[in-house]
Amino acid sequence: MFTIDTHTHIIPKHIPDFTKKFGYGNFIRLDHHQPGRAWMMQGDNRFREIVENCWDPEVRIKDMAEHKADMQVICTIPVMFNYDVKPKDCLEISQFLNDDIAQTVNRYPDKFIGLATVPMQDVDLAVLELERCMKLGFKGVQIGSNVNNINLGEPQFHDFWAAAEKLNAAILVHPWQMMGQEHMTKYWLPWLVGMPAEISRAICSMIFGGIFEKYPNLKVCFAHGGGSFLPTISRIEHGWECRPDLVAIDNEFNPKKYLGKFWVDSHVCDHKMLQYIIDLVGADKVVQGSDYPFPLGEAVPGTLVREAPLSDETKTIIMGTAAKTWLSI
Ligand SMILES: [Zn+2]
Repeated sequence: MFTIDTHTHIIPKHIPDFTKKFGYGNFIRLDHHQPGRAWMMQGDNRFREIVENCWDPEVRIKDMAEHKADMQVICTIPVMFNYDVKPKDCLEISQFLNDDIAQTVNRYPDKFIGLATVPMQDVDLAVLELERCMKLGFKGVQIGSNVNNINLGEPQFHDFWAAAEKLNAAILVHPWQMMGQEHMTKYWLPWLVGMPAEISRAICSMIFGGIFEKYPNLKVCFAHGGGSFLPTISRIEHGWECRPDLVAIDNEFNPKKYLGKFWVDSHVCDHKMLQYIIDLVGADKVVQGSDYPFPLGEAVPGTLVREAPLSDETKTIIMGTAAKTWLSI
């Protein structure tokens, strides 16, 4: 079974001191405090400890062999999006990160597929960088679930969607800057409550903003099984039915019309939920995604799908075929 893991993160081993360079902010840098281990530092704060599988492609390839993953889609870690800094500085960081990914993909073209990161706070710059990356061989781009709390369905992003559609770029929407995180710092709630809500926010705002109507050939995949969107789709539909004056102001169509128009990854941690999302969007719109190499991801990527009570045909689609369509490879 040919396997593509569509949701994995990577970071360069060495990152310039952008805080020093730009003279402001708390840009992420790495403190390699012992062999194979580094702290991601945000100013003086430890954001997260990572190990060498986060930056070393050869370590990843060994893991992939062990996990029976043929290829990984690699993209940056959302904390590196930097949508809240000066656009030209974000562009510079994005180019640095994208060039690192391009190098890895060029060295191991049969192992890795690249998704870029772009300065979404300036759509013109975002489009320029996306164009550059697609020329470098990237298959698409990863973006956040909101851009400085502006929702993805807003008109200011229309030119970005138009460019992505024209370039046939696959788009991975990843939760970040979780809503309300300042009010729920305990118990890892931004990750457990905020992330699924962020993805539902992204999908709802794109549907109700008419994005899938205006750009019908967009190839968008939402992380974490589409977050809380699919489990609450009937409530969302009910809202559209009972209060069209609030919900259907920019797009007249039932939100269920868009089931099957976008992809979701398989990282839902539960066989019944996996079956449920397959029933809603179709197996050909579910792609294996693990969130490797992070602890909230699948410890052994692909286990949920491999061990699910699904036919071999369905597993083959989710583990690889559906991703080939999404990525146009
Ligand atoms: Zn992720």
